[in-house]
Amino acid sequence: MRNHFWQTKSLLEMNEAEWEALCDGCGKCCYRKYIQGHGKRQKLYYTRIACDLLDVKTGKCGNYPERFKLETDCTKLTKKNLPDFHWLPQTCAYRLIYEGKPLPHWHPLISGDPNSVKNAGILIADGVHEKDVIDWFEFVIDAC
Ligand code: SF4
Repeated sequence: MRNHFWQTKSLLEMNEAEWEALCDGCGKCCYRKYIQGHGKRQKLYYTRIACDLLDVKTGKCGNYPERFKLETDCTKLTKKNLPDFHWLPQTCAYRLIYEGKPLPHWHPLISGDPNSVKNAGILIADGVHEKDVIDWFEFVIDAC
């Protein structure tokens, strides 16, 4: 990986290792979201309901190698499908680079510290697992 590759290469030019390194490991994409309404009235709701595989304390997947087998709606983020992921959180490195924005100071590629994401308070607090939830609406934390 070349130093500061995210500033010199486009997402399409990144190799596999660089693409993977962009993920800050926040785990926010592994929390449930839902859309209500249509057209101009459409709203996207973010919740603190985590995928059952997610370790809500660390933001890491509990079974990364087998995640697609165990969670059938788990989707791999790729260069090809990134434009469909408009629901990614605003702090997500893929979204930031896609929108031409800089990475934040707490991103491990900048801080050099894998704990800087947690220390900066980026992880979702009080996450609950989907299997323990009945009414999703009670766990909404944001909407746009
Ligand atoms: S939201 Fe983005 S940066 Fe965070 S874990 Fe998901 S893909 Fe990685």
